[in-house]
Amino acid sequence: MTEPTILPPAASPTGSLPEAEARAHLLDPDGDLTGWLAVRGHPAWRSRAILRWALARRAASFEAMTDQPAALRRDLAAAFTIRSATVAVHDRAEDGTEKLLLALADGQRIECVLLRGGGDPAAGDDDGESRAERITACISSQVGCAMGCVFCASGIDGVVRNLTAGEILEQLVHLTALLPADERISHVVVMGMGEPLANLDRLLVALERTQDRDGFGISPRRITISTVGLPAALDRLSAARPGYHLAVSLHAADDALRTRLVPVNRSIGLDAVMAAADRYWEASGRRLTFEYVLLGGVNDAAEDARALVRLLGGRAALVNVIPYNAVAGMPWQEPSAASRERFLTVLREAGVNVQVRRRKGHRINAACGQLRRAAAQANQPSTVTNTSTAPRMPPSQTIQ
Ligand code: SF4
Repeated sequence: MTEPTILPPAASPTGSLPEAEARAHLLDPDGDLTGWLAVRGHPAWRSRAILRWALARRAASFEAMTDQPAALRRDLAAAFTIRSATVAVHDRAEDGTEKLLLALADGQRIECVLLRGGGDPAAGDDDGESRAERITACISSQVGCAMGCVFCASGIDGVVRNLTAGEILEQLVHLTALLPADERISHVVVMGMGEPLANLDRLLVALERTQDRDGFGISPRRITISTVGLPAALDRLSAARPGYHLAVSLHAADDALRTRLVPVNRSIGLDAVMAAADRYWEASGRRLTFEYVLLGGVNDAAEDARALVRLLGGRAALVNVIPYNAVAGMPWQEPSAASRERFLTVLREAGVNVQVRRRKGHRINAACGQLRRAAAQANQPSTVTNTSTAPRMPPSQTIQ
């Protein structure tokens, strides 16, 4: 079995923000804030205070950290950056969904989305909280994606590089800045651009910091990692951090069709994916979610549903069915209402726990990769805010 090459972050990023490049990212462990402070004779507790300012207290600059000495704030500003990315596009939908296209320090662009409310069970546990009260951040893990799912805009141009831990975490900083002071992100789903398990080491560092009480304070039970299923990386995740919710994107229940839709499956195979998912379930005790984008005339027949029932084999998992949302220029069709109902009926009559994922933000290119491509085609040079009537987009990892 072979798995895709894992790309490191850009070693020497070059591009649009040369000033930011000269400084370390405050949110990246490579920046070693604690070590930097110790060398200058500052106590370790200042590190927590500074990170609390940057994350929980939403400081956009060191100057705003008013309980820290002025000279230290000046030195910090010379050595570190809090936000290495800038907002290139800010898009809003009528349902409250907001999407950001972020320009990274090397000029690459990634997407992240803020979703309000929602019925997506893949977004982790309720912990007694109403779904209507949820505020979910959907974040990216890579620039582009190597998995090549045929209905996804993120994979069209392949993968460029992995994000750093700081760049992953910084998406939460930008999304939090969209919220009023009395609201905060309650759930995180790593369902944006990229395959999270292909950048696992940096993702784990970022998600560890996501839980920090001096930062965002988000329980691992409210964090979901979505993957096509890379067995070796899944096993490392099982060993390292079994507390996260796992969503495995299937999209087909036999290898021939899945390889057509998710080309990386050719070198992995469904048996290996399911076995690794089972091992994660054993290690974590967390119920698995399987995602299935329903494409009209491709994978939405009754026989496809029966094959899915056989594949699941009685697992106590949740199946998240995502009806495809047709996009101009893409060859895929939405499933008809009849085929969708037939598909769901087969699953339900077989006792499968199934849910249809609601579509949110579908008028703002809220599926991963869509806004990035649209912006690239329009060659948008600066910050744009839309209350959008943008074209509809594919459903790859939409809607939480
Ligand atoms: S759906 Fe996910 S894994 Fe597939 S190409 Fe898009 S970003 Fe990559």
